[in-house]
Amino acid sequence: MKRLFRPPAPDFLLHNTEAWGKDFAAKRTADPPYTLQWRQINGKKVNVILRELLAEKMTQHHCSYCDGGYRLGASAQATLDHFRPKSVVPLEVYEWENLFVCCNVCQEKKLEQFEEALLKPDAEDFDTFRYFVLNFETGEIGINPRATTSDKARAETSIRIFGLNDSPRPQMRLTEFTKWQNTLEAAKNLDDFNYRFFLEL
Ligand SMILES: [Zn+2]
Repeated sequence: MKRLFRPPAPDFLLHNTEAWGKDFAAKRTADPPYTLQWRQINGKKVNVILRELLAEKMTQHHCSYCDGGYRLGASAQATLDHFRPKSVVPLEVYEWENLFVCCNVCQEKKLEQFEEALLKPDAEDFDTFRYFVLNFETGEIGINPRATTSDKARAETSIRIFGLNDSPRPQMRLTEFTKWQNTLEAAKNLDDFNYRFFLEL
């Protein structure tokens, strides 16, 4: 996970967050299996607009959670994830702060799981190395042994829920690290690589 900086919400979303959230929550209450039908603005689905905005301005086309999938959509599919699941907080279904662009792998691992300890990569006090250590022999992400007990629990929860050490992810990080090391200094553009937090030491 890498520290992310969230851009301001688009105006159309701010104007509608509450009303659209209430409408979705009411439909869910009336009919629990009701699945979200994203609203449209100028003929374009809101999830697509927000996903593209976040990929462009917040993650430079990386997954918010694993930082993989450079140019999401090519190597991996990009989706828009509700950090706090819509089944838990239906009113927040259009809440800007609750929406993250992520890869289909992270989303399939997370699904409707949520724990308060889960790390939010755009949190003001988030820092990769506050919570994690990186193992350059195995490619795994470990828990920082010097972290506080509560920070260790947050690191563990995040590794587990996003499946950050599930095969083949550690191997993929090592492969990317080798590619990074073999790239000439002048040609190194961090945003062109996956797993930036694993490379930028
Ligand atoms: Zn991911």
